[in-house]
Amino acid sequence: MNRRQFLGSTAALVAAPRLVRRKRRSTRLVLLGTAGGPRPHVTRAAPAQAIVIDDAVYVVDCGNGVARQLVLANLPLRAVRHIFITHHHSDHNADYGNLILLAWAAGLRTRVDSWGPPPLARMTDLFFEMSTTDIRARTVDEGRVPLRPLVHPHDMRVAGPVMHDENVRVTAALVHHPPMVPAFAYRFDTAHRSIVVSGDTTPSENLVALARNADVLVHEALFDAAAVGRLVALQWPRHCWEGPDGAVRPWRPCARPKGSVPPPNEPDETLRNGLRRDTLTSPGRDK
Ligand SMILES: [Zn+2]
Repeated sequence: MNRRQFLGSTAALVAAPRLVRRKRRSTRLVLLGTAGGPRPHVTRAAPAQAIVIDDAVYVVDCGNGVARQLVLANLPLRAVRHIFITHHHSDHNADYGNLILLAWAAGLRTRVDSWGPPPLARMTDLFFEMSTTDIRARTVDEGRVPLRPLVHPHDMRVAGPVMHDENVRVTAALVHHPPMVPAFAYRFDTAHRSIVVSGDTTPSENLVALARNADVLVHEALFDAAAVGRLVALQWPRHCWEGPDGAVRPWRPCARPKGSVPPPNEPDETLRNGLRRDTLTSPGRDK
């Protein structure tokens, strides 16, 4: 073996993604980021999930740093097949375009479909326009396949079936996250398990129906004393948050009239211990 052959074989070993070596068929959920809100955090990443079915990667939401989080999770960027955006808050879409661009720069050569509320298609076009200089340079200098024809954005306005392929059937439900309209939750049914990602939502019967009999529900939980107080004041004006100083204190119903909406549950001990916003997962059924 000469030097070039040696370097080539070594590079191939280093570059070989774990997915390629895994032969068994499986569905995995990887939480790429669980820190909601637009501000970057020191130790946590912005919301994003990867559902990995055999060698194909389906990404749900694209918070800041999603491409790097995929790399850290040992998931090859070129394996991204579909991208789903729950809604257009920046903590869920800030790196939507970057994920596509960086995946292409990392070797993506296959079609990518993206799904989400309008104006996803226009956002895609504008991102490519913004990135024209880089895309053109890499296409010419590095011999990469043209990127724009690979990407197929889909504006979604209604709930129901989204897409299906040989790996998965995806269904969307409308959830309640004003002023983001529409906002979607997604359900992924594979041969191995069912996974639901709620995005951000207030209590939602549509989400309950979508998640029925699912194996896993990825759901964002919010606890910010001041913000919760403002929301409660809006939605339950006859209830009050006993904490003008921002301290964590129990909910106190304030002369709640009969038949009115009950207050949310008191925050549990985990949330009291400093978490402001977290992503919770809970199993739906054994399988
Ligand atoms: Zn949101």
